Amino acid sequence: MLTIGRANVTDMLKADQPAAACCESGDTVAFETRDCYDDNDITEENPYGNVKDGLENPATGPLYVKGAEPGDVLKVEIKEIRLREYGIMRTSPTAGAFHHLYRDKSARRFYFQQDKESGREGFWFDDRLWLDCDTMIGVIGTAPKGEGVLTITPGSHGGNMDCNKIKAGTTLYLPVNVPGALLSMGDLHARMGDGEVLICGLETAGVVTVRVSVLKGKEHQPLFAALPLLHAKDRLMTIQSGKTMDEAAVLAAGKMQQLVKAVCGLTDEDSGMLMSLLGDLVICQIVNPLKTVRCEFPVSVLEGYRKNR
Ligand code: CA
Ligand code: CA
Repeated sequence: MLTIGRANVTDMLKADQPAAACCESGDTVAFETRDCYDDNDITEENPYGNVKDGLENPATGPLYVKGAEPGDVLKVEIKEIRLREYGIMRTSPTAGAFHHLYRDKSARRFYFQQDKESGREGFWFDDRLWLDCDTMIGVIGTAPKGEGVLTITPGSHGGNMDCNKIKAGTTLYLPVNVPGALLSMGDLHARMGDGEVLICGLETAGVVTVRVSVLKGKEHQPLFAALPLLHAKDRLMTIQSGKTMDEAAVLAAGKMQQLVKAVCGLTDEDSGMLMSLLGDLVICQIVNPLKTVRCEFPVSVLEGYRKNR
């Protein structure tokens, strides 16, 4: 299997970045990722770490997928995420919902272990609370059109969406804006609540294995208008970012309404009503340069309509 090593990192997703590797549509590829602090050896005693001039929120890549042309869709099936042995959280006196509470940065490491009874991977938050890992990918995206976008920022190309549903077993659809798509990813979180309120998840590094396929043609048209789009179990999710929560929420709901309308063959009136009955808006994150909201809709309803058209 093709592996992109952790030396291939960037803090910007951009059209003219040289590919770290090249694959065929349908191939399975592993990405070795660094943590969001650029593996800066952060500890409780040393919350600023040892490495000067590290990258902020590095992403591993990019992967050039042969045959991907602007206007296509890149289907990314997330097969497996393996983590290193620990994660880090760090407070910030300048960012996040609680920044006013902290005078300085402080950090804590959490070491992963297997629960003896359940066999599940997790960690002790303190001596009373055990939490299972629920690993997600913070940054995953293709190269945007035109100007590059920093890996701290989310957008229509994906990027730092910090959507905690992007995890093993799900499928993410991303736009192809440049030849080869140029897929990159990083910023793994062993766990994160919706919102990422402190400013971080349980930040960690690892290896993400994905299968990438290029989708072309008319039958995928409803998807093309609703990207980035996540299929997680029985839910489809549009993931949108904006300067404000309001903007992101309206974008996410609007993209899903268009998808529901197209897939189900409904009017704006009917699809609007159905959205208000079944569509769930959820905050992904409130801490990045653009804010991210997702809109979830049940797949079973879309399939039911499609069968009965
Ligand atoms: Ca992030
Ligand atoms: Ca992060």
